[in-house]
Amino acid sequence: MRKMPHVHLLMALALLVGSPVFAQDYPSKVITMIIPFSAGGPTDTVGRLTAQAMGQSLKSQMIVENVAGAGGTIGAARVARSDPDGYTIFIHHIGQSTAPSLYRKLPYNVFNDFEPIGLVTDGPMTLVARKDFPPTTLKELIAYAKANKDKVTCANAGLGAASHLAGMLFMTAIDTDLTTIPYKGTGPAMNDLMGGQVDFMIDQTTNTTSQIKGGKIKVYGVTTKKRVPSLPDVPTMDEAGLPNFEVNVWHALYAPKGTPKPVIDKLVKALQQALKDQTVMQRFAELGVVPVAEDRATPEALRVQLKTEVDKWAPIIKKAGVYAD
Ligand code: ASP
Repeated sequence: MRKMPHVHLLMALALLVGSPVFAQDYPSKVITMIIPFSAGGPTDTVGRLTAQAMGQSLKSQMIVENVAGAGGTIGAARVARSDPDGYTIFIHHIGQSTAPSLYRKLPYNVFNDFEPIGLVTDGPMTLVARKDFPPTTLKELIAYAKANKDKVTCANAGLGAASHLAGMLFMTAIDTDLTTIPYKGTGPAMNDLMGGQVDFMIDQTTNTTSQIKGGKIKVYGVTTKKRVPSLPDVPTMDEAGLPNFEVNVWHALYAPKGTPKPVIDKLVKALQQALKDQTVMQRFAELGVVPVAEDRATPEALRVQLKTEVDKWAPIIKKAGVYAD
């Protein structure tokens, strides 16, 4: 028999006996939440608020790390390869369900390489433009885009981002191809929109509300069936003249596959408590995002949501013919 080096033997022993003891002590050091987009954008905002409140409830610090690029898939790939020890978790949005259809060579499997923790929020999007963009209504914007399709530009956070998905749906709905400008997150895209370097984008209210209220950008509509309470004067896309244009950006938390169940249970509890935190609730309300009900902040609900959304978007994306190698 081959002699096992001591260090391997020790590691094997630690793995054998370590799990329950480790789960009992969890967390005993800082937890990192990976955010797959740049700082300042919607995922960053929801992630930071949630991480802070979860850390308080776990009595351990939870810090965030932005691992941005390629519509969130770079951060996701990092998490899929991370140690399943509960010290790396991950927030992602609807993009986790569209990436399998958009990326032909996704370096992970959204079902097999992650342990779902639970849903966090539902969020509307807004169609916004630079302040001096000529159209004043959605109908005018559509006509303007059709007439100027070679020069109108649409920002997004990369292939697979919610802004990319919504932009793609918009162009399909108005049957016009426009130039898209990808960023590593809609935080930096918003800077360029305010600076007038790009014409319009569709992004979550989390990132657009204060700029809309401050008159720094123009808004044409929200992507929900009903108006958003924090933006009562903004019409729905339907009211503004584009029926059936609905996009809900859901955010959810995951851990790497193999994270022990007792650890996941603690994270689920912390998530559920975070969603009841007064400061978090108030901030979410101001930003137009809705924390999910407790029964959706669970691994079971997220598993169902992910499968449902993967199945929902696959044919739509296939029809649109968008993909990356
Ligand atoms: N909201 C962005 C998107 O998916 C990403 C981000 O949070 O920056 O379009």
